[in-house]
Amino acid sequence: MIRRLTLSLTIIVIFLYGCAGIQIEDISGNMDMISKSVRAASKAIRPISDKEEYYVGRAVAAKLLSVYPLLRNRRLTEYVNYVGRTVAMHSDKPFTFGGYHFAILDSNEVNAFACPGGIIFITKGLIGAVRNEDELAAVLAHEVAHVNHRDGISAIKKARWTEAVTIIGATAAKRYGSHDIARLVTLFEGSIDDVFRTLVVNGYGQRQEYNADKTALIYLARSGYDPSALKDFLARLITGGNASGGGILKTHPATVDRLRNVEENMPSKKMDKFLIKLRTQRFRGATG
Ligand SMILES: [Zn+2]
Repeated sequence: MIRRLTLSLTIIVIFLYGCAGIQIEDISGNMDMISKSVRAASKAIRPISDKEEYYVGRAVAAKLLSVYPLLRNRRLTEYVNYVGRTVAMHSDKPFTFGGYHFAILDSNEVNAFACPGGIIFITKGLIGAVRNEDELAAVLAHEVAHVNHRDGISAIKKARWTEAVTIIGATAAKRYGSHDIARLVTLFEGSIDDVFRTLVVNGYGQRQEYNADKTALIYLARSGYDPSALKDFLARLITGGNASGGGILKTHPATVDRLRNVEENMPSKKMDKFLIKLRTQRFRGATG
């Protein structure tokens, strides 16, 4: 009940905030008020704003945490945040409304999830599957790329957002009735489900995954990490027997195809082997 109330408040915040950006013609005293504003709102369908994306992402994160428990290891969490934020600061979108936050899920499944807006989860199992800091950065760079590309938000069915904006448009000049709020809550919950199901069950489209890998290579190179760490990690997933597991392999295209895509797009970058070694020592210190 409390959760539902919180959700209701969240939705009101989101959609009321959203209504400020919609240009509605003057509809006062017009018999056709509703249909006119619906038409206006339909024309004014706009992308979900950064602030709305943040609220959607937060709700998706809360839902994920009802499935996977959070690993409470402060030292390791701080380390993952250090590496993740280094990559995020070198991404195309270094600042999001709520910032980037990295957290570890207490699960042996090899998996990672990027919630819209910048909350990124990585499982304990995935941390165990990477060999050094550069590979960890590679996995996080892939997730940061999903945030940059707004892949999570794009999983929301267009019809839901269209209807939400239409309700807001239709009620812009009056108070929200309980029916409107109930419908907006339903639309919000549906949107969270769309994103959640895409992250956990269905996965993104192949093109989104290949693009996330391609972009990750760029972010790694920019932030001083070795882009070939992504290639090494994927190659080891193939040979290391992890291919039988669910997790990231279930929701991503065939690892062999991802590896080929990564090899084709590998930037040439001269790496300082000494620095890689230092980072590997730091990785062992934090994960050991
Ligand atoms: Zn992905």
